[in-house]
Amino acid sequence: MGAAPIVIRGGRVSLLDDDFTVLDGAAVAIVGDTIDAVGSADEVAARHPGAETIDASGKLVMPGLINAHTHLYSALARGLVADIEPSANFTEILEHLWWRLDRALTLDDVRLSAAAGALDLVRNGTTTIIDHHASQVHIDGSLTAVSEALTDAGIRANLCFEVTDRDGSEARDAGLSENERFARGLVDGEVRTSDDGLLGASVGLHASFTLDDATLERAVGTASDLGVGCHIHVAEDTADVDDSIRRSGKRVVERLEPFGVLGPKTIAAHCIHVDDREVAILAETGTVVAHNPQSNMNNAVGCANVPHMLDRGVLMGLGTDGFTASMFDEMKVANLIHRHQSGDPRVGHDVAARLCLLNNQTIASRLFGRRIGCIAPGAAADVVILDYDPPTPLQTGNFAGHLIFGLTGWMVETVIVGGRVVMADRKFTTVDAEGIQPRARERARDLWERM
Ligand SMILES: [Zn+2]
Repeated sequence: MGAAPIVIRGGRVSLLDDDFTVLDGAAVAIVGDTIDAVGSADEVAARHPGAETIDASGKLVMPGLINAHTHLYSALARGLVADIEPSANFTEILEHLWWRLDRALTLDDVRLSAAAGALDLVRNGTTTIIDHHASQVHIDGSLTAVSEALTDAGIRANLCFEVTDRDGSEARDAGLSENERFARGLVDGEVRTSDDGLLGASVGLHASFTLDDATLERAVGTASDLGVGCHIHVAEDTADVDDSIRRSGKRVVERLEPFGVLGPKTIAAHCIHVDDREVAILAETGTVVAHNPQSNMNNAVGCANVPHMLDRGVLMGLGTDGFTASMFDEMKVANLIHRHQSGDPRVGHDVAARLCLLNNQTIASRLFGRRIGCIAPGAAADVVILDYDPPTPLQTGNFAGHLIFGLTGWMVETVIVGGRVVMADRKFTTVDAEGIQPRARERARDLWERM
């Protein structure tokens, strides 16, 4: 819970409602972990006489950003120096790089990877993540290691462990148990969260092509006992589709559906190689699809047909797949990729803003059981303040244009999550950033040698 009430006054406030409303010179009041009021600065201040005041004059105040699919375990891979064979396709990228990394991670690596990753998230104004963790040799307790680092930093996160059959039955069973153990430690309500509402859980699954039928059945049984959804990579590459057809005679979404993997609390990351029938299943089951354009371009696996899926009623959000800590960067690429892909310059602009700003709100609100990602009374007090002084009017309706062409992560100065100021004027108030980075670098060097 937050401490004393806070009133942020003087800035331009972007509410991130459906109209992309921007209020000039307004104030936002925070009580506990909740936004209590937004409106005229004098009125809001008068209602909270003893509040701590944050002066946001000349700044932009907006909700914290949400990342719908990421992997904090990849944070220590930046600039990796190791004997890695060149990869000709997606399967080789996994075998040569990511599966070697996730087998080399110790619990200390996991903790520092999450701690270092959290610094970058906060610096870039991201306050909520939906994370998919893998450390296939050190499984027991790994989600606690991630959650402790995120709790220290003050970030809101839904966590899961990546269950797979690729490392044998012992690792598979340990992965299932880790998901269950972590989720059972949370409070069992309409959704499972920690007491402070900042942590949530899903059951993590790698991808159809590394999961046997029996494992899918067990994982869905666990998720349904816990009342949580699954978080799985779906049709990221054609190799996943080919494997699914070989195993089951069906495409990936069609294979997963009868097991009960899909549903409104399930995150299906990527969904690039899906046909019309699969898109209809994703829409009918209310499954969340997380689009990760930078990672997809980096892996050369293709591009999800987002405009089409949105037209067909699929709830699509935006994630980074661990490629970047900046949702601002991801939004810019989400704007560009659909224009490039479709050859139509009318496409993209609104798609990026809708996915990242509005749909990610819906997704996070669903998983955490409260309004997250907007500035409105009753919503979670996740607020960022940016030093943004645009040369053109910023007004109701044109926020997407400023987002794509103006805003960047380095403008973020102050970050509040659940009513707690976690970064003030670019200084962390929760963790010792200067202490974390050298330790992370030392561990990264050691980890690279073990890969
Ligand atoms: Zn991923």
